[in-house]
Amino acid sequence: MAHVNSPEHPPLHTLAAADLSLLQRLHQQLLQNCPGVFQAAAKHLLQEPISQAHRPDDASETQLQQLQTAYFTSLTEGPYGEGYRQSRDQMGLAMARLDLPPSWLAEAYRHYLQTVLPCLVQANAAHPDELLKLMLALSKLLMHDMGLTTDALQRHRQRASPRLGSYGAAFAGLPCGTLVLTPDLNVVFANPAVESLLNLPAGSLLGSALHDWLDVTPLITLAEQVFQQNLVCETLTLCRSGHPQALAIPVRATASLLRDAPDGGEPHLLLVFEDLRQQTRLTRDLLNAQAVASVGTWQIDLATDVMLLSAQACSILNWPEDEVCTFQGLMEHIHAEDRESVEKAWQAALNGAPFRVEHRIQIGQRLRWVEARGRLEYDAHGQPLKGHGTLLDTSERHLAAEHLQRLAFYDVLTGLPNRTHGLVLAQQMLDRCERAGRQLALLFLDLDRLQEINDILGHAMGDHVLREVAQRCQALLCKDQLLARIGGDEFMVACEIDGLEDARHISRHLMHTLAQPIGTATPPVEVGVSIGMALFPSQGHTVEELLKHADLAMFKAKSLGGGHCQLYEQQMSERLHRRNTLATRLAKALSRGGLHLHYQPKIDLHSGRLTGLEALARWDDPELGPISPGEFVPVAEERGLIVQLGDWALHEASRQWAAWSGPALRPAPPIAVNVSAAQMSDESFPDRATQLVRAAGARPEAIELEITETAMMLDPERARRVASQLVAAGFNLTLDDFGTGYASMAQLKNFPVGKLKIDMSFVRDMLRAPADQAIVTAVISMAQALRLRTVAEGVETPEQARTLLALGCDEAQGYHYAPALPPRLLAADWLP
Ligand code: C2E
Ligand code: CA
Ligand code: CA
Repeated sequence: MAHVNSPEHPPLHTLAAADLSLLQRLHQQLLQNCPGVFQAAAKHLLQEPISQAHRPDDASETQLQQLQTAYFTSLTEGPYGEGYRQSRDQMGLAMARLDLPPSWLAEAYRHYLQTVLPCLVQANAAHPDELLKLMLALSKLLMHDMGLTTDALQRHRQRASPRLGSYGAAFAGLPCGTLVLTPDLNVVFANPAVESLLNLPAGSLLGSALHDWLDVTPLITLAEQVFQQNLVCETLTLCRSGHPQALAIPVRATASLLRDAPDGGEPHLLLVFEDLRQQTRLTRDLLNAQAVASVGTWQIDLATDVMLLSAQACSILNWPEDEVCTFQGLMEHIHAEDRESVEKAWQAALNGAPFRVEHRIQIGQRLRWVEARGRLEYDAHGQPLKGHGTLLDTSERHLAAEHLQRLAFYDVLTGLPNRTHGLVLAQQMLDRCERAGRQLALLFLDLDRLQEINDILGHAMGDHVLREVAQRCQALLCKDQLLARIGGDEFMVACEIDGLEDARHISRHLMHTLAQPIGTATPPVEVGVSIGMALFPSQGHTVEELLKHADLAMFKAKSLGGGHCQLYEQQMSERLHRRNTLATRLAKALSRGGLHLHYQPKIDLHSGRLTGLEALARWDDPELGPISPGEFVPVAEERGLIVQLGDWALHEASRQWAAWSGPALRPAPPIAVNVSAAQMSDESFPDRATQLVRAAGARPEAIELEITETAMMLDPERARRVASQLVAAGFNLTLDDFGTGYASMAQLKNFPVGKLKIDMSFVRDMLRAPADQAIVTAVISMAQALRLRTVAEGVETPEQARTLLALGCDEAQGYHYAPALPPRLLAADWLP
């Protein structure tokens, strides 16, 4: 076999040419005489415990044996050039990597000699000199070979240790936990920070398998990635293996490859752990704080339009946390009415202003009010790049404000705009009509029987009726027509029209729907409505004016008996003007003694004798002339002057009675005084009446009080109480205008009156209309059954008087006998 030595690496200088030929001979002898000697030596060596202990798992038995056999073979085979030298270097490296001590090498040569020497002795037994020469050459070679390999081992160890030493120095002081691992996750290096992170005793990690301490599942994945990408960064949780109850530690793990592994072998894994516990806690605290304050945070990348929302922001917006959010995506959910203001604020922010806007947003079913604030970041050229800000849930604030607004602007019972707000809305409608050159109708609705329903069925039913009325009207009207509740039983409708017929059409529908029974009660509850209408621009230029006119028209409609609609007419205003004048003048007349009483006789139908007088108020105003009580009494009732008028009349009649009944004179017949509904609903009236009568020098027994049937029916219970007190004080009571109200026999039975006055409308028509005569007959027989006296008023003819007498009526009053006369005339004609 040729020895080829490269010029740079001369053959081993320690071996002389003689030695080389001896070794060649020796090699041939071994091959010839002892085949398999090198395998045997290698086999022995590898079976040694020390070899077994250091054998890497992955190396197969045969592979190692082949390598070791080659190593032993090459000892004597040569050539001792570069190849040989490299093979010794490889052996040193392998030993360093497997951490084999130099003694293992000595052991290897021992095995070699132990196997080779017997074979050699046997082959040269006949030539001891030759054997000696061969052995000397072999010894020289072995010494040399051993030196060569030990040197290599030393060199590789030294190369590794200073580096590991520098890792140690550099990483030991790092605040981050640092591990150097073999690819199969054995710990080559661990700094104190990693041990304190995992709460392990110092030095326990080094040299151990990491899975003894940690659940390495996430790290295995990390290691696999790092071998492909060199550097991987991931947030993961470290858990102690076998300590399920130990705290899981959130860390940011950065893994990289150390390619120049200390022993020049496979690259190592460098793992750096950043403890995220503090940060996690801070983040959690921040998120908790956000949740408590209902504040979320957002960030936006303007290049991609992608927004990052905090958990709280997602929850405020009802945005699914796992869904990518973009500004445009969010815009689609912003309330249509708010979109413009949001876009404006955003444009302003893009131009450098702080972003701040409050808007509604509806994602899914949930509508929220949010206040978004933020700031954009710009590049050197002033181009916006990113933005970040907060999101505040202001829904509650808005709900509260809306609630307050509802209370201030809306009627709680029906939810309709109240009077103030209704007028504002109507004025806005009117302004729009004016600009568009259109007409507007204003309808004043007044329920006909709400008072009655309240009195008879109770306020809960009254409330129900009002809600029902609101709903029915609303259902009839379109979105751009206005319905408001402007008073207890008053509503207002405003609508654009093309002409009067439109307005009539709407009011017909309203009247029809409100004439339908409410609920299923028997008898049916029918509230009914009276409607007055005024039109813009022909009948008023402001809502206030139109409403006043519609109100007047409604008043007229009401006077037609309810369930009517009336368009405003100029005369209504004139009548109103007249009423206003009357009210002012009447108040003056009352305080200045401008009123007088006339007296009308009441006659006993049997005897024709005077049984009493009725006091009737007369007013002759210096400017307006004489005014009928039929006109001024309703004005007094409407303007709150009726109690003053009634008290005056009572006092004046009593004074006149006392004057006619002087000590020397026969007592005058009783005088009847008309009492208004307002007096009958005043519980202090009986006491006051008694005082007034006595103060005037008369007795209650001399005074009859005429109470209208309608006044009795307004609040029957209270009227009955007041009436009983009046009777207890000595007054006699007469029910006036009987037959026009709806008193039942039962109510009449409980009401302490002594007399019924048959209304003059029945008396007037009695002889022509059989129905009226039937009523008169019925009233008289009912009165007889209740043992009440009857008096017929408005008797103008002898036929009427005769008929009434025949029907059993007790007394009569009317022009047939005398009109109401001034005191002096009456006394002259009627008092003896
Ligand atoms: P009333 O109490 O029903 O009074 C009867 C009215 O009929 C009186 O009208 C009287 O003048 C009128 N009259 C009497 N006989 C006849 C007749 O044969 N034919 C016709 N067509 N009419 C007759 P007057 O005085 O104009 O009073 C009208 C109403 O004014 C009264 O109706 C009464 O309700 C009210 N009134 C008058 N004075 C007072 C008062 O002092 N207090 C109150 N509360 N009301 C009064
Ligand atoms: Ca009367
Ligand atoms: Ca009457």
